[in-house]
Amino acid sequence: MRLDDCVAVVTGSTSGIGLGIARALASAGADVMLNGFGDADAIEAIRRQMEDEHNVRVAFNPADLAEPEAVEALIDGTTRTLGRVDILVNNAGIQFTAPVQSFPADRWDAILAVNLSAAFHSTRFVLPQMLERNWGRIVNVASVHGLVASTHKAAYVAAKHGLIGLTKVVALETAPTGVTCNAICPGWVLTPLVQRQIDDLATRAGIDVDSAQRQLIGEKQPSLDFATPEQIGALVVFLCSDAAAQIRGAALPVDGAWLAQ
Ligand code: NAD
Repeated sequence: MRLDDCVAVVTGSTSGIGLGIARALASAGADVMLNGFGDADAIEAIRRQMEDEHNVRVAFNPADLAEPEAVEALIDGTTRTLGRVDILVNNAGIQFTAPVQSFPADRWDAILAVNLSAAFHSTRFVLPQMLERNWGRIVNVASVHGLVASTHKAAYVAAKHGLIGLTKVVALETAPTGVTCNAICPGWVLTPLVQRQIDDLATRAGIDVDSAQRQLIGEKQPSLDFATPEQIGALVVFLCSDAAAQIRGAALPVDGAWLAQ
């Protein structure tokens, strides 16, 4: 599956799932705008390695997606630097866990801003150019938590349910066009975001990290195995292909049968 001549923006692509998606898109021939936080030298090394390995253009924009103006600057900057935006992957996300009654209001606001509102803003800024060319792909990285809940994740679950709602509305509004919008719903993927939850569990339960990892995955994911950023990346590339042109408004689980229960 080739995506030569396509330009992709992948938010939150300096780490984890977003990096896996960015690499998969670059290996399919797309030029990529990376985004996210992290050590400048490490990000530059990733950027250069992707360019060298896949012979595509790769740029980096450090926009903080909690700020709507920064989201606009990310889309504008990509259009200026790489010429256009054909593929938008809204992946950046943050997590915080606490019972509702002690959930800090500022964490609620931050999670809603990054995990939900940023996708609204990037979509509204990018859609005009996609509709003008009558081709585009918007992929929102939601979660199983966009479809079911877990305790202590009020903001995350609310934001991810909202993101799936946004996905459906955008899919309906673009249905007669060449633009599609879908959501991917990963279960557990071993990334820094999940490693922090494993480490917290180990501390709370007074167990070692390996036991905490087995306990975390055993509670929810019947395959007892993590999905990988590479697998999510491959699904994004498929959603960008012509074969996926009529997959619209879907929320696609990659969850080791979490949602089958
Ligand atoms: P991660 O922590 O490894 O990566 C998150 C990325 O988002 C990083 O590049 C980070 O710099 C970036 N980011 C965070 N806040 C940002 C901001 N304000 N502005 C710009 N970039 C920002 O996490 P991950 O596990 O790879 O998660 C990626 C996405 O996948 C998230 O939306 C997450 O909710 C979702 N997800 C993850 C899992 C999992 O098990 N890891 C499961 C389901 C869904």
